[in-house]
Amino acid sequence: VGFQKILTLTYVDKLIDDVHKEFRDKYRNEFQQKGALGLLNGTFDFKDDFMRLLRDAEESSKVRAPTVMKTFEQSLKSQKTVKCMIETRGEKPKEKVKNKKNKGSKKDGTEAVAAPSKASAGDKQLSAAGEKEELTKDEILQKNREEFFRRHMKAGEKSRSPKPDAQKEKGKKPRVWDLGNSNAKVLDYSNSATNGSAEACPVEEFDPDMALGDKNREPGRLYDLEYESDDEAEEEKVVQNPSKPSVKKGGLGGMFGMLKGLVGSKSLTRGDMDPVLEKMKDHLIAKNVAAEIAVQLCESVAKKLEGKVMGTFTTVTSTVKQALQEALVQILQPQRRVDVLRDVMDAQRHRRPYVITFCGVNGVGKSTNLAKISFWLIENGFSVLIAACDTFRAGAVEQLRTHTRRLNALHPPESHGGRTMVQLYEKGYGKDAAGIAMEAISYARNQGFDVVLVDTAGRMQDNAPLMTALAKLIAVNAPDLVLFVGEALVGNEAVDQLVKFNKALADHSMAQTPRLIDGIVLTKFDTIDDKVGAAISMTYITSKPIVFVGTGQTYCDLRSLNAKAVVAALMKA
Ligand code: GDP
Repeated sequence: VGFQKILTLTYVDKLIDDVHKEFRDKYRNEFQQKGALGLLNGTFDFKDDFMRLLRDAEESSKVRAPTVMKTFEQSLKSQKTVKCMIETRGEKPKEKVKNKKNKGSKKDGTEAVAAPSKASAGDKQLSAAGEKEELTKDEILQKNREEFFRRHMKAGEKSRSPKPDAQKEKGKKPRVWDLGNSNAKVLDYSNSATNGSAEACPVEEFDPDMALGDKNREPGRLYDLEYESDDEAEEEKVVQNPSKPSVKKGGLGGMFGMLKGLVGSKSLTRGDMDPVLEKMKDHLIAKNVAAEIAVQLCESVAKKLEGKVMGTFTTVTSTVKQALQEALVQILQPQRRVDVLRDVMDAQRHRRPYVITFCGVNGVGKSTNLAKISFWLIENGFSVLIAACDTFRAGAVEQLRTHTRRLNALHPPESHGGRTMVQLYEKGYGKDAAGIAMEAISYARNQGFDVVLVDTAGRMQDNAPLMTALAKLIAVNAPDLVLFVGEALVGNEAVDQLVKFNKALADHSMAQTPRLIDGIVLTKFDTIDDKVGAAISMTYITSKPIVFVGTGQTYCDLRSLNAKAVVAALMKA
């Protein structure tokens, strides 16, 4: 019992419990008559009993069959139907409370199905028949998104979230494409040389509620990412608090269970930490932190803690966990903070537009998040010129034109003293992007726009000619901020993209001191649930700050990074 670290006896807890019970039962009468103190003078004939109990305990530990891994059919997962996993926003919190209270039922498998109480009879039959449905990627995304919203609502944002009932009533309307029936000639914008001003864009019919998302939020405020604190972490804190010992287990078994792993005032060795670090590393990797980075992080924590004397009531696990948590928060708070609003005001004082360039691979959300950032800037009273420098992807200009229209519909000139808050600067397709950006910037300067947002064509990080073109666009136009847009969804792939974009900008730039990426827009954060590792990997490798986080597809789904929230999600079991 005393040397568990050297020789681990799995039956020790049980043995102590058994001895405790046997001894108590055998000497119960004497206890009651003489009291505990009276017993101290007595002698006990307990050796044989003890040896028997020890033999029994040793035998029982030997005969225990090795644990066999469950087959998929035996697992709880196999009993879930797709339908029961999709949470209905309005119903969820109630269900969750029920499940929490009913934790005991978890083990017998009834909880895992978590079917909404209103599930139709048909659904029940399906799950009863044990029908297995595989989740498609879309369904997983949907599920994660629901989870994300649930967390936000739980975290006190209820009042700011869209009303589920109102949304339900409206339902999803089929999209009517502007040019749905047009022929190819109409769709060919390559010769268009118009500068799509707000006036040129007819205000289309669209649902402002849908586009806005969250109507009750404070306009112009960039909210922090929020994350629900981890229940388990809190439970653990209670266990670790010596003034409130756990009452789960009674008797000596519980007592020793609690003391297991305590190091007292001993100094930490690598050996003490290794098993914990190994677990932490696997945990980080499971949360999408790049494997190499997880190893490096654990290594730096080990170096920091080695030889450190621990407090009496601290476990190795909690010490390592805390050190890791601190390291992660530090990584996410890089030295260089980007304060866009302050910098825009600074540029305003110098009577020049503040220029932001967006780059990244295709489909990561450059245009969408550019539009969200425009919306946020407009709400802060700044006028925006969007430069359509993706002259390659079909539909890229139209996509920005639609955003411009919508943004102008949400913020018409009438509510801004007759000032058009957002305009599109476009020259159609196939033209030199660097040239268009330059024209747009000078147009913005002449017209008194506060900010120019330059959308660029998506390109693969390994495509040298396209990376050269991007380096040229950046070198020629010297934007104030170069933002790399990466989606959290792809995890380590986003890290690879970021590193290669940064390197390519350095390699392909003609300038002596090349202009690199200044910050990150991390998009699709709503689709990853708590697998937030990409945020850590990206900032760890490049030390670039995450300036914006995209959390959905409406104009309000933009957040600033909250390091503590991300770390909480990362540490969550
Ligand atoms: P681009 O090719 O980089 O300009 O990407 P787009 O802006 O066209 O976005 C690609 C898709 O990702 C679109 O369907 C967007 O609605 C979607 N998207 C962009 N940002 C987010 C986000 O933060 N969350 C979610 N769920 N989808 C997003």
